[in-house]
Amino acid sequence: MEKLLYEGKAKQVYEGQNENEYIIHYKDDATAGNGAKHDQFEGKGVLNNTISCIIFDMLEEAGIKTHMIEKINDRDIRVKKVEIFPLEVIVRNITAGSFCKRYGVKEGIVLDEPIFETSYKNDEYGDPLMNEDHAVALKLATREELAYIKETTLKINELLKAFFLKLNLKLVDFKIEFGKTADGEILLADEISPDSCRLWDVDTNQKYDKDVFRQDIGDLIETYKAVLARMQDK
Ligand code: UDP
Repeated sequence: MEKLLYEGKAKQVYEGQNENEYIIHYKDDATAGNGAKHDQFEGKGVLNNTISCIIFDMLEEAGIKTHMIEKINDRDIRVKKVEIFPLEVIVRNITAGSFCKRYGVKEGIVLDEPIFETSYKNDEYGDPLMNEDHAVALKLATREELAYIKETTLKINELLKAFFLKLNLKLVDFKIEFGKTADGEILLADEISPDSCRLWDVDTNQKYDKDVFRQDIGDLIETYKAVLARMQDK
């Protein structure tokens, strides 16, 4: 087994086959509220890896540069080595989650334009909201890098919205992460799965994402299986 370099809440990062690669391993853990709620769901890692690989392939085909090299097996992928920008990059199409709590608005309001939002990826400080000036001042990214990240993220939003709409799912919001290679190339990294997106059924508004775990309103594995089934039926 390769050397474990980093362990996060839902994934592990291992040394790769060469100095320009990592291997990412998906675990069965689910956390919410910055780790306040934690559980294990047998098969979750396999589902998220499978779902995320299909989405990353779709994005690559549409011209988005990602860290993806290949899927090794159910739980492991080979990726290009990047240094992750410590920013949670979020897009909101419909109000939900922390946006509603922060601004006192109802869930489910369709926004006129997508909201692009970043927060500082830092558990100790509770992932605080961060604007461009803050990120530049803290030297987390340059203005040019942030402009590229925003432009790419809004393209990804359009691609994901269309992808999920074909599955009769509305893309409410999502979180992505970007990283930089040793050569300075910015790549979409991390994962895109029901852990990191809010997805509502177009007809019923039923939730098909991690909110079933956050809010104890459904079976996480059955929910994620249903998302994958819609992707495979397509
Ligand atoms: N999100 C995520 N990881 C985080 C925080 C948020 O993947 O650490 C995703 C979340 O699943 C949702 C979107 O980002 O799809 C917006 O989340 P929000 O800011 O509303 O925070 P939450 O309500 O999840 O605390």
